[in-house]
Amino acid sequence: MRLDTLRARVVTWYVGLLAAALMVFGATLYFAVQDYLKTSLRDSLVDEANAIGAKFLAYEEQKGPAWMAGEISEAYAPELSGRFIRITRRDGTVLYESSDTRDSGIDASAVSQSHFKNNVRGFRSERQAGSQELLIYADPFRSSSGTNYLIETGLSLAPIQRILSSLRSIVLIITPLILLVAAFGGQMLMKLPLQPLVALSERAGYIGTSRLGERLPVPSTHDEMERLALSLNRMIKRLEDALSQNRRFSADVSHELRTPLTIMRGELEQVLLESTLQPAVRDSVASALEEIDRMSKIVESLLAIARLDSGMDAIDPKPVDVSTLCRWVMEQLRLLADEKKITMTVQTTPMIVLIDIAHMKRVLVNLLDNAIKYTSPGGNIKLISFVLEKMAIIEVSDTGVGIPPAELPHVFDRFFRADKVRSRASGGTGLGLSIVKAICNAHGGSVTLRSEEGVGTVARIELPLAHEV
Ligand code: ADP
Repeated sequence: MRLDTLRARVVTWYVGLLAAALMVFGATLYFAVQDYLKTSLRDSLVDEANAIGAKFLAYEEQKGPAWMAGEISEAYAPELSGRFIRITRRDGTVLYESSDTRDSGIDASAVSQSHFKNNVRGFRSERQAGSQELLIYADPFRSSSGTNYLIETGLSLAPIQRILSSLRSIVLIITPLILLVAAFGGQMLMKLPLQPLVALSERAGYIGTSRLGERLPVPSTHDEMERLALSLNRMIKRLEDALSQNRRFSADVSHELRTPLTIMRGELEQVLLESTLQPAVRDSVASALEEIDRMSKIVESLLAIARLDSGMDAIDPKPVDVSTLCRWVMEQLRLLADEKKITMTVQTTPMIVLIDIAHMKRVLVNLLDNAIKYTSPGGNIKLISFVLEKMAIIEVSDTGVGIPPAELPHVFDRFFRADKVRSRASGGTGLGLSIVKAICNAHGGSVTLRSEEGVGTVARIELPLAHEV
């Protein structure tokens, strides 16, 4: 059982509280029973002494000690009931002393003489040789003629101790059993109400940012779970609105910037045609044209990402053999690699994938272009494709500079460039990988990057195979 789940935490709390309640209940029960048994025992000893005084001792002087002993034996049968009774006159003469005939009974002769200690009534307990504990009540009695007696009645505490020990055992055995059943039952019971929560979290994980149009299932339970699903759905709706507003905004801005940039380029190109232009002015105009080209590239890339993300630019998938496409793109870029003295190899397996050729070409060009850009002369670039677990895998690996681990999680962010100076100098805008990601997502696939600084980088694309779609 995992302990870091809500179910385990609730069950642990519930079993813990139950254990505390059972402990309090067990202790209360134990002490209440103990108190009740001891009070009953004391009451019976007091009643017995009072009755002996009133019924028999009051007539001892008239009827004699033998009559009294007979009456007491008849009334209380100490030899059978295991009672201790002793009657002593003030002068120390023992008028009656019970005898216990049972096995391990009370040995009355071993019970100490209280000798009218302070002449007060009260209880004392005594331990006998066989470790038997006795509770004895001493009650001074004065007859109508003024003779003083001491009545002592006693009973063994063993039966009470036996009952209490059984009760202790029951509580100590039953409590862990109840806790075990409660823990098991709690686990089972909690499974049911938590099921909708598990379903909600799985569905919420599936929705992510690319499926914000979908909603969580709302259980019609009229409870917290239903309210949670409704609140989450409202939140997803707000996120969807904000995101699509954002995407529309970038798409609109990029679109609006396109025309003025094209006009500016045209105007500047026109200026460059002027033969009377001073060389310094010509250089400035040429540099401005370069910057306009860069801006146009950025605007085009932003527009492409925004359109792909918002679904405005619907991809047009067709069954294509990826290995042919890979070889074709590789040949397109071979010249660039040869210029940098980088060797390029391709190793592909024929496999049909539903793709938009223009977009997927762009993906491969971006990845290979990056590999060439960030690999030093003499390095190698490999393009491989294969099938793994019903997915088409395309990998572009290089022996380039690699990416520092701290920067790797950000390479798909817009405008992120690990080495800004070098990247800008090589014409990078920091949008290439964002486009790759947008296109892969639009195809229902994904892209990941593994890299080791100074060793190289591997970009991996996963796309669903045509017959799996
Ligand atoms: P850029 O246009 O700057 O290349 P990308 O979005 O294509 O932008 O890449 C983002 C950043 O990731 C780059 O600036 C670069 O630092 C890093 N990067 C991407 N591909 C590689 C690679 N193959 N080798 C090393 N670094 C890379």
